Amino acid sequence: MKDSKSNSKLIKPSDATAWVSCIRRAWLDLHQATYYEPDPFSQLLFDAGLQHEQRILTQLQSRHDVYQATSFEHTQILMDEGVPVIYQARLINHEVGLLGFPDFLIRHENGQYQAADAKLTQNENKKAVQIQLGLYRRLVDNNLPAIVFLGDGRMASLGEEVDALVDAFIDSMHQLREQSKQPEVRYSHSRCRICPYFAHCRSQFDAKADISLLYGVHGRTAARLALAGIRTIPQLASLNAENIPDVPHLASLKKKQRAILQARSILNDETFQLKTITLPDGNWVHFDIEDNPLAATCDRHVYLWGLLTPPYTQHDFDYVWTDDETQDYRGWCTFLEKIEHYRTRYSPVIFAHYSNHERATIKKYAERYHMSGHNTVQWLLGQDGEVSPLFDLQKPVLDSLVLPLQGYGLKDICKHPKLVNFQWVNEESGSQWSVVQFNRFLQATDSRVKQRLKTEILAYNCDDVMATRRLELWIRDLSSKGDSG
Ligand code: SF4
Repeated sequence: MKDSKSNSKLIKPSDATAWVSCIRRAWLDLHQATYYEPDPFSQLLFDAGLQHEQRILTQLQSRHDVYQATSFEHTQILMDEGVPVIYQARLINHEVGLLGFPDFLIRHENGQYQAADAKLTQNENKKAVQIQLGLYRRLVDNNLPAIVFLGDGRMASLGEEVDALVDAFIDSMHQLREQSKQPEVRYSHSRCRICPYFAHCRSQFDAKADISLLYGVHGRTAARLALAGIRTIPQLASLNAENIPDVPHLASLKKKQRAILQARSILNDETFQLKTITLPDGNWVHFDIEDNPLAATCDRHVYLWGLLTPPYTQHDFDYVWTDDETQDYRGWCTFLEKIEHYRTRYSPVIFAHYSNHERATIKKYAERYHMSGHNTVQWLLGQDGEVSPLFDLQKPVLDSLVLPLQGYGLKDICKHPKLVNFQWVNEESGSQWSVVQFNRFLQATDSRVKQRLKTEILAYNCDDVMATRRLELWIRDLSSKGDSG
């Protein structure tokens, strides 16, 4: 049997990623598939996945004879011959309607084959991974658990514990195939923005003024509100909190009031201040890191620790840069030295950042290098009852402000012309863009190319800390108007 077009009707393990993300996406893949160019970050992840697969292949080749399969029939012949490892196996089961290409089939000592896949993730409990590996088990049709070679070097087994999830996936996919209308779903800012069907769905959500477009109104919340007849943003905006039923994530009066204000904010492009904002006193140093999630030797490698000191001009941008992971420890220690320097120079100093990522990363680095007891680390994290000099600017934003936005990320707030109105010099830049540029830096051999990439990343990080500075000023301005009003 040839690998033919008719096989496109079969369920594939690769369908699991779309299905886990959104069943409408899985339906659209089946009925109105669209071709799309992967963005550079997705392409980087894809390439890193292939490299990981090659590393596992090399490891297996060092211990076993590995045979590459070229077709379904060839896979079967190799299995019948009992070869130790089959690479790029091709399996099909028309009865169940399944098709899959596990990276490896590894012969067990009992003579049966175990399906195995190389996955860049460090988490074998991700639903998509469990479904994919569970489907490979179905295809090899024995009781052996499937193996996953994870990005952190671990090897995990997935057995019958994932069967229920696999059954649910297969049933749902059969149903989606038969279904002529796209499933009703809710908007999710984080999920939809990166989906290839964004343009298709967004116009439909907009046309309905669907309440799930509102920040803080989750899919389940919107579905339950719809049952109570509250479906649109104008409807929600016109309500009193007392008239909204208790639904998931929206049970308290405070949350209901906030949801109503969020609806009014979006409708009228209006900002609401819920309470007085008090920012910590001190000399502010703005702080932002860039880290590489594709690090080979550690969880994440911080390649840039960026800081902006008073009086906050371009010339006051300071940083610690590392060329690669071998400099990870040196970069961390240099960062701590810089912090100590600023601790004295700008006393009392506040290190302002946006979101919890910076604090969490400092904690992780302290654990990585067994330095949780280090004086600077303890001071930074505010241990032993001391107040931490780290200040997350996102907290007062989320606690005290309702903004005409769908997301409360730094860029969402800063770029909005009626809010902070700070524009990044490089419009394409962003955290994923930075990771892509850094990985190009790692690959580059020409020193001029390397320097150009480094300069671009530094400029982007400088803009990030400039943005948090501008946000600080905007919040101060807003609170002073609120106080005087
Ligand atoms: S844009 Fe959103 S709703 Fe539409 S298919 Fe993608 S994830 Fe689902």
